[in-house]
Amino acid sequence: MPLAYIGLGSNLQQPLQQIQQALNELAELPDTQLSGVSHFYRSRAIGPEQPDFINAAAQLNTELSPIVLLDELQKIEQAHQRKREMHWGPRTLDLDLLLYDQQQIDLPRLNVPHPLLTKRAFVLLPLLDLDKNLALPNGKKLQDYLAQCQDQKIERLTTETVSRTYP
Ligand code: ADP
Ligand code: MG
Repeated sequence: MPLAYIGLGSNLQQPLQQIQQALNELAELPDTQLSGVSHFYRSRAIGPEQPDFINAAAQLNTELSPIVLLDELQKIEQAHQRKREMHWGPRTLDLDLLLYDQQQIDLPRLNVPHPLLTKRAFVLLPLLDLDKNLALPNGKKLQDYLAQCQDQKIERLTTETVSRTYP
């Protein structure tokens, strides 16, 4: 069964709960099993002044095609972002399809591997939690991109922090 990796991010409306709920929703997708969840991370937002992000990654075993999986991710995002529309703030939930087996996909609405994957510590670190030997379709190891991300502000949340903030 194909193996897909999803990046999760939230910086609004109780981000830890947004991520936790999104993980439950990923686990409920048809023809899909949630087979792994990374540690949770707190990262400094890139761009305009806004709250820190909480990030994580999920590993899915799925029979859904990449485009159908993207449709499902966007449905989950939309359900979460109904809240965001009322507040006009930064996003409550971002779900990105980071990797899908070793496929290289270049469609107008879907690029896999995700183009920013190799440049963001908040994507690389959770992916490496799930599989420290992960590589791109071009054979390059994710581990080798981390050195270029040393200046990015990111911290791994302890299980203690997570359970205190999210009972
Ligand atoms: P970003 O995640 O880049 O901050 P958005 O979540 O708003 O921005 O996504 C913008 C568009 O990116 C979506 O409409 C989607 O079609 C497209 N997209 C391209 N490749 C991917 C991918 N691998 N995962 C998720 N969205 C993608
Ligand atoms: Mg996105």
